[in-house]
Parts: sequence; structure tokens; C-alpha cells
Amino acid sequence: MQGTTARSSRWAWRTDTHSVSSFQLLTPTRRKEQCPIHSTSHSPVPDSAQALTPVDVLVVGAGPAGSAAAKMLAAAGHRVLMIDQAPLGRDKICGDALIPDAHHALRRLGVLDSVMAQAEGASHVACIGPSGGRIDVPGALAVLPRQVLDEILARAAMAAGASFQQARFEAPLLNSDGRVCGARLKFGDQVVEQAARWVLLATGAVPKALQAAGMCLRQTPSGVALRGYVHAPSMVGKITALEVAWSYAVRPGYGWIFPAPNGHFNIGAGVSDSYGGGKKSKDVNLRKLFDAFVAAYPPAAQLMREGKLVGELKGAPLRCTLAGATFTRPGLMVVGEAAGSTYDFTGEGIGKAMQTAMLAADAILAHPQSDADARTQYEAGLAALAPTYRLYERANRVNAFPWLTDLLIWRAKKSERLLRRMSGVLEETSNPGNLLSFKGIYRLFTE
Ligand SMILES: Cc1cc2nc3c(=O)[nH]c(=O)nc-3n(C[C@H](O)[C@H](O)[C@H](O)COP(=O)(O)OP(=O)(O)OC[C@H]3O[C@@H](n4cnc5c(N)ncnc54)[C@H](O)[C@@H]3O)c2cc1C
Repeated sequence: MQGTTARSSRWAWRTDTHSVSSFQLLTPTRRKEQCPIHSTSHSPVPDSAQALTPVDVLVVGAGPAGSAAAKMLAAAGHRVLMIDQAPLGRDKICGDALIPDAHHALRRLGVLDSVMAQAEGASHVACIGPSGGRIDVPGALAVLPRQVLDEILARAAMAAGASFQQARFEAPLLNSDGRVCGARLKFGDQVVEQAARWVLLATGAVPKALQAAGMCLRQTPSGVALRGYVHAPSMVGKITALEVAWSYAVRPGYGWIFPAPNGHFNIGAGVSDSYGGGKKSKDVNLRKLFDAFVAAYPPAAQLMREGKLVGELKGAPLRCTLAGATFTRPGLMVVGEAAGSTYDFTGEGIGKAMQTAMLAADAILAHPQSDADARTQYEAGLAALAPTYRLYERANRVNAFPWLTDLLIWRAKKSERLLRRMSGVLEETSNPGNLLSFKGIYRLFTE
């Protein structure tokens, strides 16, 4: 509840040329006049009228991105309200793999130890080609169901002082200058207006909130994927790496089996390029894709045979390559997968969602008095990441031409140096695109 945090704001409500007038040197009462906060229904706000108290930052979405930003901003003393349309402990359809960038972000947020205490650790990603060749690429890895991971992160944000409410973002509130100064939120069937100096949209791959905020440039997703959980104690010890298998049946994409805690496995398949560069999504039958993966990859068939599916197979969209959204407008920043922070080619996005959200939090913290400077810093941070995203987009050709994985695997088996480069891609110390450029393919035969 919002009332759980009684911290004073460290916002400097001071004038400068970039700040928005209605938030300058205003007392909370005056702010209320400029950006009215009221319930549009006659019944009281559920639970507590404190839900209407103005905040410094309204974070919309309590996934990894939202919680990462909320934690950093609350820890720095800002009044943060984080909302999500789902209750705390909601599930998110995901492969649940934590690759090295996620480990870095979780460490920075101070929750790596509590995450690893519950996660299934792994030391390799196994890349399996359509001809059955395999290499094991070393890296710091883990698997933890998102229901658990996201709750750890949200509770860390709350422990730092952020409040959480279950509510849906409907639309931004604008002041007389057109700056975002809060949001219209829906609590059950009741609509309230919440004033905030900043709104961070961390609403993931579904574009509805982006559209409502006027930030959506592309509605269609970059990719789609489906996953299920299988309980298969007999497979424990047999599948220990994060297995990623390419095959002609799952083109342009791949299938995976990730060992999760307590004898469970996250198994799934997905395709990138589901919108094909055009405006309309391609029709992808995810269930057929999953079945094709299981038929093409013997360990997947064995897992499905020996194990028991827990719950349903479920699909979800992905937004990749820092594309499809405007990143900022006065008073509002888009972070995480809403900003397209997921990597094309691998579909990994938990670490990058947190990283982009922390860039936004850093920018807000660095420029408490200047809206424009904060936006510029955040956009510059994303621009610095953009070349790597483009390389991942280029590397995505592997998903369309699975024989390239056969080639890579065949060469990596013969070359320690190439295996090190692949591990460098996982650890983000070397570029994925370099492996798959014409020059890179030439080097495959020469190094
Ligand atoms: C099948 C699949 C497998 C994947 N596997 C992996 C993997 O193994 N490893 C990996 O790193 N990444 C993986 N990804 C990508 C990863 O799931 C995303 O990159 C990550 O969840 C993005 O985090 P986020 O915080 O930006 O968004 P999300 O985790 O999607 O959180 C967004 C939150 O916003 C809330 N929300 C949305 N709209 C509103 C609204 N209007 N009002 C209030 N709340 C709202 C949602 O309820 C949600 O809780 C996978 C994705 C898919 C689909």
C-alpha cells in the first residue's frame, strides 16, 4: 500500500529553464491545483485515500524493468509508487533464463544472492545445430521461474521504500504545457488520477499502454514464443546446461530446454521476425512450432515423454532491437521491453530490461532539476547500447539459416579461440554480429 512509505522526497522543486513550470517550487497543494488529483467516481478509493498522494515517480509495470527503476529511485529517497495491473506474484511467460547481463543487473540491485539461493544454477549454454552437433559455451547462468524472480525484485523495491498498488495505467495526465504530470489509473472499476513528477512506463511487450501514452511506433511484436513447465525428475542430471537447439522445423527461431529448480524444466520455442518488417504480424501457430521442435530434438521428445506438463503451454510476444517506441517525452520515459530492450536472435530480455530501467533511474537521479537533461542522458544511454542491438539483429540470420549453426559448431569444436569468442558474446565482451558477418564467416575458416 502506498501508506507503507512515509519518506520525504528529495526532489528539488526548483526552477530551471528545462523544468516544467507547474512542478517548479510548488507545494503539494499548489501542485494539486495544477495537475488535479481526484477520483472520477463518487465512491472512495479502495483501501486508502493515500493512493491519491502525489509521488515523485510513478512506475507503471512491476516486471524486472519497473522494479529495478523503483528500487533505485526509492533507495535514493524519492517517493515512488509502482503499479501493476496484476497482483504481486503474477506469472510472466518467459524462458526464465538469467544470462550474465541479468546477473550484473541483479548484483547492482543487491538481490543476486537471494535470487541465486532459489535459482537453478548452470555453467553452460549448449548450442545444438540441426545436424546434432553441440558445443557448450561457458558463462554465469541460472534459471528461476519469473513468478519468483519478479516478486523478489518487487519486494526489494518495496523494502527500499517504494509502494505497490494493483492498478491499470489508462492514460497520461498532461499539464498546461503538455508535459506528462501523472496518470489516470484504474483500480478495479474506479478511475483515479495520480500526480507524479515522472512517469516510467515499464509495461513490457504488449503495446496497449504505449499506445495510450502516445509512445507506440509499431504495434506488432518483433517475435513470439511459447513455453511450458515440465516436471521430470528422471531428466535431472541429464540436462544440466541451458540447451538451445536450432532446426529447420523451427525456422526462423529456435527451441530450448532450461533446467529449472526442483526437477522442473522450462521448455519452449519461438520465432523472431514475426512481423516481417511490415505492419502486420505474420500468422505463427506457436503450438505447431512447439510440436515441431519436440519432434526434431530427441531430448525434448524424451522430456515430454518422461515428464508431466505442469499447467498449460502459453505464448507471448517480444519487442526487440530498441525499436517500436518513442523513448521519452516531457515527464515520461519508456523502459524495459516496452522500449524494445529484448535482444533479437536470443530473445533474452530480463537483464536488458533492468539495465535500461537503471539507465532511466540514473538519469532522473543525475538531473533532479532538469527534465530535458534527464531525458537526454537516458536517450544517450540507449543510443550507446544501440550498436550491440543492431549486431544481435544481424546475428538473427542464424535463426533463418540453421546451417550457419552447424558451421559455427563444427568450427568451434576445432577452435578454442572461437569458443572463447562465443563465450565473450554471452558475457557481452565480444560482438555477436562479428561472428556472422561475411568477414566473420571467412575468419571461421582461417583462425
Ligand atoms: C516465451 C518467452 C521466453 C522468454 N525467455 C527469456 C529468457 O529465458 N531470458 C530472458 O532474459 N528473457 C526472456 N524473454 C524476454 C523477457 O520475458 C522480457 O524481456 C522481460 O520480461 C521484459 O521485462 P519488463 O519488465 O520490461 O516487462 P514485463 O516483465 O513484461 O513486465 C511488464 C509489466 O507491466 C504490467 N503492465 C502492462 N500494461 C500495464 C498497464 N496498462 N497498467 C499496469 N501494468 C501494466 C504487466 O502486468 C507486467 O507485469 C522471453 C520472452 C518470452 C515471450
